[in-house]
Amino acid sequence: MKKCNIDNTVNFIKKMYGSNEVYLHEPRFFGNEKKYLLETIESTFVSSVGPFVDEFEKKMCSITETKKAVAVSNGTCALQVALQLAGVKMGDEVITQALTFVATANSISYLKAFPVFVDVDLDTMGLSPDALEQFLTKNAKILNNKCINKNTGNIIAACLPMHTFGFMCRIDKIVEICNEWKIPVVEDAAEALGSKYNGKSAGSFGLMGTYSLNGNKIVTSGGGGAITTNNKKIGNQAKHLTTTAKIPHQWEYTHDKLGYNFRLPNLNAALACAQLEQLEKMKKSKQEVYEKYEEFFKENDIDLVKIPNGTNWNYWLTSIMLKSEKDRNKFLKESNKCGIMSRPIWTLMYRLPMYKKCVRDSQKNAEFLEKRIVNLPSSAIL
Ligand SMILES: *Cc1c(COP(=O)(O)O)cnc(C)c1O
Repeated sequence: MKKCNIDNTVNFIKKMYGSNEVYLHEPRFFGNEKKYLLETIESTFVSSVGPFVDEFEKKMCSITETKKAVAVSNGTCALQVALQLAGVKMGDEVITQALTFVATANSISYLKAFPVFVDVDLDTMGLSPDALEQFLTKNAKILNNKCINKNTGNIIAACLPMHTFGFMCRIDKIVEICNEWKIPVVEDAAEALGSKYNGKSAGSFGLMGTYSLNGNKIVTSGGGGAITTNNKKIGNQAKHLTTTAKIPHQWEYTHDKLGYNFRLPNLNAALACAQLEQLEKMKKSKQEVYEKYEEFFKENDIDLVKIPNGTNWNYWLTSIMLKSEKDRNKFLKESNKCGIMSRPIWTLMYRLPMYKKCVRDSQKNAEFLEKRIVNLPSSAIL
């Protein structure tokens, strides 16, 4: 008989990683990281301009198959700037999912706009096109080529789906619906670098895509991020806005907008370049981890979350679906007590004090997943 045994799982993970203490996701440096960092220090170009910044942007274009990539200091500011360039203004609304990392919602609030939470699909854990269509049909109208929330009178200025754990949401459908409703799409692809949907890269479907190279992501620059787009004009605006909006001149300091210092230092870009060279190897190694889990959970009464149809996955973070909230809490408590870092999926955004009053739909699937999903250690094995 199959038995749900947390001890078994804990022992399996310890054995797989050859350690009694296993973190959720650790960086791995098996390429040119040291070499590029040393080169950068020796060149003295450690700060906001340098050859690795340009190289990183080129590499991001090539990986995501987009026309323009802009290096920025983290994934959160990438979101903020992308939304601003999509046209989000104070008092507007932005449709996103409640099942996400807090940065997604915060980036909307930084622009003094309001997040509106629409439910996710159970299999992708990302924004549901069906729920989106229902929400818009019920609550929105188009006026002067803009989408208006009929209940609040506010403009729905953008849609911000997120690719949870590197799984792809039904992004083609979402873009199609948003086009009909005159809503620009920004993809939060922070977790999905290297993932594809029907052969097309995460972040390349909408008007813009944003990425994070934080320490817990599939590859890291220590801290960092990027905005990608196929719209060259918007790409150039993103570069301008994130580099203090300075008008190029040999010595004059003139700025034509309220810009930001969201630049990625060359030192971090050096690390990013070395890591991007390793992206395919990283994916392969993490795929092996996932397949080992798959094999193990066949024999144990725990459901591994399966790769949704259409997703060519980057294997960022493996998760399981427990049978109830009680089971989830027990698993988290016991595994963490034994040195295995497991984590629940995020607390839904509208449970946080700053997002309590936000408009939302039923959230049936998000609430189901919130109670049951647990992430397991998923670092690449050397
Ligand atoms: C990591 C992450 C971010 C933010 O990236 P930072 O680089 O940490 O600012 C945004 N959205 C999602 C979904 C993330 O996982």
